[in-house]
Amino acid sequence: MTRTLLAVHAHPDDESTSTGGILAHYASLGVRVVLVTCTNGELGDAPDGAKPFTPGHSPAAVARHRLGELQAACRHLGVTDVELLGYHDSGIAAWEKPVGAFVDVPVAEAADRVAALIEHYEPQVVVTYDYENPAQHRDHLHAARVAQAACERAPVPKLYLKAHGRAYWERIVRIAASVGIHREVPAGLDEVDRRITTTIDARHVVDRKRAALHAHASQIASSLAGKLPPAEFAEAFGIEDYILTHPTSAVKGTLTAPDALRVPFTAPPTAERETDMFDGID
Ligand SMILES: [Zn+2]
Repeated sequence: MTRTLLAVHAHPDDESTSTGGILAHYASLGVRVVLVTCTNGELGDAPDGAKPFTPGHSPAAVARHRLGELQAACRHLGVTDVELLGYHDSGIAAWEKPVGAFVDVPVAEAADRVAALIEHYEPQVVVTYDYENPAQHRDHLHAARVAQAACERAPVPKLYLKAHGRAYWERIVRIAASVGIHREVPAGLDEVDRRITTTIDARHVVDRKRAALHAHASQIASSLAGKLPPAEFAEAFGIEDYILTHPTSAVKGTLTAPDALRVPFTAPPTAERETDMFDGID
């Protein structure tokens, strides 16, 4: 069977900033890489920098521009198939929520569409955000819940959640400081570290991840990743950590109960972490 990885993301650019390393890594190994992007990113910055809800910001024009950037980024990463669900970007909680916002779409409704894509592409590996991390954009949380629900409808061998643990944050703080930017390690990382199962070294393709990120030129002006020179970028963003949600039962084909996806799981020590998301897949 074709080895396939399917990533579920909220906005154009998340595929690059969040999982660009594994998408490029597995594409380089000949794995079919499918990207599902839930929203059109209407509430990102306009190409000239205009912010949402200010004069000069047209959500429809921003969406068109960002979808073009997404296609360019996917070419850098080696994504083979891009599936756009076309929901409206919800924006951040401080803003007025637009009509038709993705967060108002029932999880079950969007999950049915993602489940249909899972049945079509038959991925062995699905990747999304950490649905247990409330401190992220509400569209990311919603996308993660949708992906989780889709995997309950159409079970896959392995579902991974992107993790930002202590090692990641310590790298970010150190490298940000080296270019004059102050960042702080957030609290609560012990719990994240406890759940990390998998570390993927994507430094050999980190130039593709960086090129993909820069393809989203309208969005990266204020981001640390957009400011880092190649060597610093590679050091900061070349290694990605993930949480495998159901490590063995599903691989054996026994995952049927929805609650099986929520069974607490104790992650292995760092030295014993998985280094390949396709471990255990025939
Ligand atoms: Zn996003």
